[in-house]
Amino acid sequence: PASAAFVGKQAVKVVIRVRPSLPHEADTEACISTTGNQVAIVNPRNITERLAYTFDRVFGEADSQESVFAEVQPVVLRALAGNNATIFAYGQTGSGKTHTINGTASDSPGIIPRTVKCLLSHVGENALTASIAVSYLEIYNEKIFDLLAGEPKSLPNLDLRETASKSIVVSGLSNVVITSLGEFEKLHETALKNRSTAATNLNEASSRSHFIMQLSISNVLENGKTLSSKLHIIDLAGSEDNKRTGNVGARMVESGAINKSLFVLGQVVEALNKGHPRIPYRDSKITRFLQDSLGGGALGLMIACCAPGQQHYWDTYNTLNFATKSSFV
Ligand code: ADP
Ligand code: MG
Repeated sequence: PASAAFVGKQAVKVVIRVRPSLPHEADTEACISTTGNQVAIVNPRNITERLAYTFDRVFGEADSQESVFAEVQPVVLRALAGNNATIFAYGQTGSGKTHTINGTASDSPGIIPRTVKCLLSHVGENALTASIAVSYLEIYNEKIFDLLAGEPKSLPNLDLRETASKSIVVSGLSNVVITSLGEFEKLHETALKNRSTAATNLNEASSRSHFIMQLSISNVLENGKTLSSKLHIIDLAGSEDNKRTGNVGARMVESGAINKSLFVLGQVVEALNKGHPRIPYRDSKITRFLQDSLGGGALGLMIACCAPGQQHYWDTYNTLNFATKSSFV
């Protein structure tokens, strides 16, 4: 029923997640509030300026990883039934994307470990006919790197091609079959370790590239028909306004690539949800990569993440406008 409501309404469902204030933010005030499926922000420079937005679903600070996964699970089940799908987290650095996508393995697992668990439990019941394989890749400066092959800076980047049946394939990308959570955890750890290390700290490094887990699902039915699909789970590069951060040199090139790819992604989602005839997939690497898994019968879920603090007002404002523009309503 949840998935039935989901499908058909729009190519990409847009939901919001506002994270709680963190202990070190205790003395900063929030500029955002949530009620039902509404989010409101107040400009700290002018508190009479209040903006309210409505979305399909809004997760507030009290909403758990489990309740977010309840939104994701119908997509995973549809992927098992042969539909390609894409789930991605959008937002400025520090807004909760990685928490939402990865979470913390032990006490607060996010979408990736929950999805793998869900898929493996299905494979466990149908071990002779179903299989799951994983790839990890990173898109950095419009180049694709295989995160299971080593550190991107020591590797050549990989090419995309489209097959005769319009599937998108990354040439030479590692693809490893998993049959247990233990196998997944090892691969996941390798992928995280290999993320771009140009910056001085991990959060900074990870916010400059798009991190993508691709699950290839294959399911042979009793009648011999094979259902195959790809499910992508993506932790996008930080959406902060890089023009304001005063980056120069290599960092400015990175910023240009990030800004452009997120802009194009927004344009693609908007074009899909509004039924525009031309979808600009070819205008950036990430949308080209996702061409067979976004729109055209594939299921999409965008989770736009927001930090609550006043100091993040402009980034939050931008995120909500990005999400609104992309959404169906
Ligand atoms: P991003 O990946 O967008 O840069 P993170 O996921 O790293 O942001 O989140 C920033 C900080 O906020 C981290 O310390 C993370 O653990 C914490 N955090 C994010 N979302 C939540 C949440 N829903 N509940 C508790 N802590 C959160
Ligand atoms: Mg992150």
